[in-house]
Amino acid sequence: MSILSVNNVNKSFAGLKALNQVNLEVEEGSVHAIIGPNGAGKSTLLNCFVGRLIPDTGTVNFLGQSLLGITPHAINQAGVARVFQTPEIFGDLTLLENVKIPTLAKRDGAFSLRAWSRIDQDSLVTDKAEHILEDVGLIEKRDILAGSLSRGDKRRLELAMCLVQDPKLLLLDEPTAGMSRADTNNTIDLLKRIGERGITKIVIEHDMHVVFSLATKVSVLAQGTVIAEGAPEDMKGDPRVQEAYLGG
Ligand code: ADP
Ligand code: MG
Repeated sequence: MSILSVNNVNKSFAGLKALNQVNLEVEEGSVHAIIGPNGAGKSTLLNCFVGRLIPDTGTVNFLGQSLLGITPHAINQAGVARVFQTPEIFGDLTLLENVKIPTLAKRDGAFSLRAWSRIDQDSLVTDKAEHILEDVGLIEKRDILAGSLSRGDKRRLELAMCLVQDPKLLLLDEPTAGMSRADTNNTIDLLKRIGERGITKIVIEHDMHVVFSLATKVSVLAQGTVIAEGAPEDMKGDPRVQEAYLGG
């Protein structure tokens, strides 16, 4: 069964066609990679799934519900969480506080001091946040300020902030961008581990090593169009894919 269905999506920026008749079916429980050269439209497509952009034409359905014209917050409430290309965390709060914050947004939809102190003192929320920090390997840093973390740790924290929301669909835009090989391999292991929770993932990725380690299906985007789709091992040697990368 598809968790996300994208049909004939088009999006232009001042005459530039960033997305051209994009169709995509994301199977529930899969790790679906979207690859393609720089400027192919990968981030634009992801932005259409989270309410940051609205396609000019076409449909995007999540579990049968249209995601078009509803707010990013409502999309998040429906079960879609996103890890950004650059981590969005609260540098002057502790790791534990950072992981608790998304539960507040999810529950109340707004940040009030009263709501925050309720969440902050809720032992169930604290237990859950600690458990997730343990999962991502950051529990021993729970009380330090997030701003002091390394780049790799910031990305792990951001992932924890997504997981605490119990998403049904997790969107990852270049989760290993700028990481060393060692940090990249740690992230692959981490994503495999959280895969055991059964969360469907869409991973936008440049690094083929990451794609072939994680993905169950690959869609190749070039110049705003899906030019090839299939199992990772079939995409590896596909001449259309090689041409898109060489030409891009
Ligand atoms: P990718 O993530 O695959 O590298 P993007 O989706 O970021 O590609 O960009 C696709 C194309 O759309 C590029 O040519 C880019 O310059 C253009 N583009 C993306 N966002 C905007 C925007 N907000 N305004 C104008 N052009 C944009
Ligand atoms: Mg991008």
